[in-house]
Amino acid sequence: MTGGPAPAGLGAGDWFQELLFPHARQSFEITKVLYRERTAHQDLIIFETPTYGRVLALDSIIQVTEKDEYVYHEMMTHMPIVAHGRAKRVLIIGGGDGGILRETLRHKAVQRVTMVEIDRSVVDMCLEYMPSIPQKAFRDRRTDLVIADGARFVAETDERFDVVIVDSTDPVGPGEVLFTEGFYRNCHRVLTPGGILVNQNGVPFMQADEVTMTYRRRRKSFKDVGFYVAAVPSYYGGFMTLGWASDNPKLRAVPNATIARRIAAAGLRKTKYYNFAIHQAAFALPAFVHPHIR
Ligand code: SAM
Repeated sequence: MTGGPAPAGLGAGDWFQELLFPHARQSFEITKVLYRERTAHQDLIIFETPTYGRVLALDSIIQVTEKDEYVYHEMMTHMPIVAHGRAKRVLIIGGGDGGILRETLRHKAVQRVTMVEIDRSVVDMCLEYMPSIPQKAFRDRRTDLVIADGARFVAETDERFDVVIVDSTDPVGPGEVLFTEGFYRNCHRVLTPGGILVNQNGVPFMQADEVTMTYRRRRKSFKDVGFYVAAVPSYYGGFMTLGWASDNPKLRAVPNATIARRIAAAGLRKTKYYNFAIHQAAFALPAFVHPHIR
C-alpha cells in the first residue's frame, strides 16, 4: 500500500487512517474535515484533530501537521543554509504547505527563493485552512512561486542556486520523479560550486530501501552523499533520514564556532527544534542505518 484516496464521507468522530505502509498504519481522530479535493495530481484532505491540530494528507499519506511541522521545516532548511554560510539563492522543490519557504525566508542574507510546486491546490488550501504554516511567506518580495513539475524545472532552468531543498511527497505518484538519478543529476547541474542538496528521505526503520535507493542515485552526481536525522512525531516509524549531498565533505563538518556564529548572525534563536547542538548531532546515524548506505 503506498497511498490512495481516503474513504468518502469522513467526518467528526471518524478516524483517518494513513495508507503509507502495507502492514502497519497510524490513525488520527477527526474532529472536522475542513477541505477535500481530488486535484489534478492527488487526493487532498485537510482535517482537524485533537492531538495534531490541523493536518494535511495527500493520497492518504500524512504531509504536515500544525503541531509538529516545525521539526521537519527547521531541519530541512537551517541545516543546509547554516552549513553553506553564503546562500543567496535557494530552490525549493515541492513544499506546497509553505513551511520550508517560511523558514528559508528567516535568513535575511537569502535574496531569492524559487519554489516549484506541482499542485496549486496544496498552496491555496494550506493558505486557507492551515495559515499558521505559510504565514506571510508567499507574500514575501523574495518569493518566486512556480507551479510546475520540479523534475522538469531542474532539467530546463538556466538559473543557479546555492541550496536546493527537495520537500517532496514519497516516491509514489507525482513525487516519484523526484527520486530519480536524472533528477539528482539536474539538481547538481543547477547548484553553484559549494552548493548543497537536501531531500526528504523517509523513515529508515520502515523505508530502509529509500536510504539505499537515493544514496546510490545521488552518488552518481555528488562527491559527498550522506544523511542526517530528525524526529518528526507524525511521520510514523521513528526518526526520519534527510538526504544530504554536495561536492565538499567539509560542509558536513563545519567547525562548531562557525556554526554558532552563523546561527547567531541569522537570528535563529526562536527555533523550536533546530539549534547548535542538534546541528552537530544530526549527522550521527544509528548503527542499523549504516548497512543501508551502500
Ligand atoms: N513534508 C512532507 C513530507 O515529508 O512528506 C512533504 C510536504 S509537501 C506538501 C510535498 C509536496 O510535494 C506536495 O505539495 C506535492 O504536491 C509536491 N510534489 C509532489 N511531486 C512533485 C513534483 N514532481 N514537482 C513539484 N512538486 C511536487
